[in-house]
Amino acid sequence: MRMAAADALPQEACGLLLGASGIIDRAVPVRNVAAEPLRHFEIDPQALIDAHRAERQGGPELIGYFHSHPVGRAAPSPTDRARASGDGKVWAIIAKDDVTFWTDDPEGFAELSYRITDS
Ligand SMILES: [Zn+2]
Repeated sequence: MRMAAADALPQEACGLLLGASGIIDRAVPVRNVAAEPLRHFEIDPQALIDAHRAERQGGPELIGYFHSHPVGRAAPSPTDRARASGDGKVWAIIAKDDVTFWTDDPEGFAELSYRITDS
C-alpha cells in the first residue's frame, strides 16, 4: 500500500484489500477514476465488480479498500465520512509512512487495531 501510495503521487492511490476471515493477505492497487484524483479517490467500478464476482465463485473475500492521502493525515477525511456507505468494510488509509485501519460502520468510522505477520 505504501508503494502504491508513493507510485500514485501526486494523486491519491486506491485499491482492494483481499483475504479471508478478517485477515488481509493482499492489497491490490486499482485505477483511481475520480474526476479529481489529486483530492479524491474512486475505485474503478469494473475492478469492484470483478472482485465481487471472484468472491462469489470461491475466490478471496473482499475485506475492504485502501486509499492514500498525499496531503493530510492517515484518518478519514470529511469527504471519506460523507461518502462512506456504512457497509462494515475495512478502510485502510495511508499518509506518509503511516497506515491506519477503520471499519465503515453505520454509526461512522471506528479505528481498528492490527498486527502484521510474515506468513
Ligand atoms: Zn480519504
